[in-house]
Amino acid sequence: MNFFRSIKVRVWARFEVVVIAMLAFTYIFLIAMFPMFYGWMKTYEISEVYEDIRTNWYSDDIKQIIESQAFDKKMFIEIIYPDNRSYFVDMLGGSLSIRMISKSSFINSVNNSDTGTIYKTFRDEKENNSILMMGSYIGSDRNDPEAYIFIFNYLQPIGTTVQIFQRQFYIVGLLMMILTIFISALFSNKISEPIIRINNSAKTLPQGKFDAKIGKRDYEEIKQLAGTLSEASREIAKSDDLRRELMSNISHDLRTPLTMIKAYAEMIRDISGDNPEKREKHLKVIIDETDRLSSLVTDILDLSKLQAGVTELNIEAFNLSENISGVVSRFDIVKYNDGITVDLQAEDNIRISGDISKLDQVVYNLINNAVTYAGDDNKVFVRLFKNDEGMVRFEVEDHGEGISPENLPYIWDRYYKVSERSATHKRAKMGSGIGLSIVKSVLEQHGFKYGAESSLGQGSKFWFEAPELSDLNEKQPEESQKHKLELKLQKKQ
Ligand code: ADP
Repeated sequence: MNFFRSIKVRVWARFEVVVIAMLAFTYIFLIAMFPMFYGWMKTYEISEVYEDIRTNWYSDDIKQIIESQAFDKKMFIEIIYPDNRSYFVDMLGGSLSIRMISKSSFINSVNNSDTGTIYKTFRDEKENNSILMMGSYIGSDRNDPEAYIFIFNYLQPIGTTVQIFQRQFYIVGLLMMILTIFISALFSNKISEPIIRINNSAKTLPQGKFDAKIGKRDYEEIKQLAGTLSEASREIAKSDDLRRELMSNISHDLRTPLTMIKAYAEMIRDISGDNPEKREKHLKVIIDETDRLSSLVTDILDLSKLQAGVTELNIEAFNLSENISGVVSRFDIVKYNDGITVDLQAEDNIRISGDISKLDQVVYNLINNAVTYAGDDNKVFVRLFKNDEGMVRFEVEDHGEGISPENLPYIWDRYYKVSERSATHKRAKMGSGIGLSIVKSVLEQHGFKYGAESSLGQGSKFWFEAPELSDLNEKQPEESQKHKLELKLQKKQ
């Protein structure tokens, strides 16, 4: 792990940057710009005094006002009338030199200025001070003023003040830097601690053992993250368990057709060997079961591909009625062994277009489930008909123990099995949990509607609907298949 990119160091560094930026800001405004602010302040102070005198010019107390302003603000204020009479109040102290200045050049500057007001800074060498002067006129007419007014004020030497500030700033700044190194380390620790904690716990996620310790005072986002990770971890553990279970169940699932093959082979040997008709029938079941076995193996391997939509369907028009009765006849042995009858009510010659072998498997899986979970009536009903909307509808119904509403939405998931199943169903069977997920994938690939209705203790009905193939559009699937092929070829080129 790159230490310098760790959350702790980065949070700490960001705090430091903020503190340094704030110190720099303070330095600029408080120390570097201090002389400028001071100049502005003095200018403002003088302009205020001028404003006070100007507005009260015609009052009887004007002299007192001028005196008190000069006294309060420690200023030199001089009024010069157009006839050269003048009057001044000097509260600057030791400012003899100002009294001596001839103001006529200032009056000229005032007259020549754009606004009628001038500001000047100059040095009083005797007093070793800078002086700020404002000159203006009083009256409404600039060309015929009542009087000229000059206000002088010292600009105190602020160099020493700034120096003191600077020193103080260096000391305070250094102390703050040292302090913030620790404070920001503390903060960064506090902020990053839960993230580091979760990160450490998350390392156990692949094993499905994630267990982060979350406190009440932890950040909301951290709590949510921990929740999400726990959920993911649970899912991983669950699918891991399911996979393990699947491995142990798969042999069981494969054994079912094997048992049937064995049973029929024995039957041929012991009973039907000499009866060509029966033997043919039983041999057919053996062949069908062998086919199913191999297709089951292929499907287990292909399931993930199928679900990713990678496998291509081999679409062709076919007689679904015939295919269904073919699948149903494979369950004759179940009647023979367990007394469960599969009752088929199918309209003849219903044609659809689809992948024959995949749809055969759908039908087989649905009937097989119904037989497996059949109820005490030992009956499974298989129906094929055209419904009111003109769709071909296939239904498998049993009167077994059914599926609870909580489980119903999940039965189509891969490896999903209703766990708390009582062992009372007729053909005690450990399912793999992939039968319905194959059904779902195939039907979705075909674009057929499908579903399941069930209530506990009453039984279940599984169905799918496919568009019927009339003679008119009979050719269509082959055409579209051809089209698909062409597309594929084009893509390859
Ligand atoms: P499995 O190989 O376990 O039967 P499926 O994917 O075919 O796997 O079915 C998933 C689950 O749905 C089964 O474990 C079972 O609990 C439930 N299920 C499927 N069909 C029926 C049915 N006809 N009656 C009751 N439960 C059923």
